[in-house]
Amino acid sequence: MPVPKRKLTRSRTRSRKSANMALAAPAHSLCANCGASRTPHTVCANCGWYRGRVAIDVE
Ligand SMILES: [Zn+2]
Repeated sequence: MPVPKRKLTRSRTRSRKSANMALAAPAHSLCANCGASRTPHTVCANCGWYRGRVAIDVE
């Protein structure tokens, strides 16, 4: 059975983990109606637009 030749240093292990565990920026897209930044698959908080029509009333 193959066995690693050398022990991985704590620093190497931790730096690999940190690269994989880093938080990704939250997804966002632009509203097709007003151009404001919004979360995908949600109604636009700025104008109430969703899937080509006004879905909710925004004061
Ligand atoms: Zn909008």
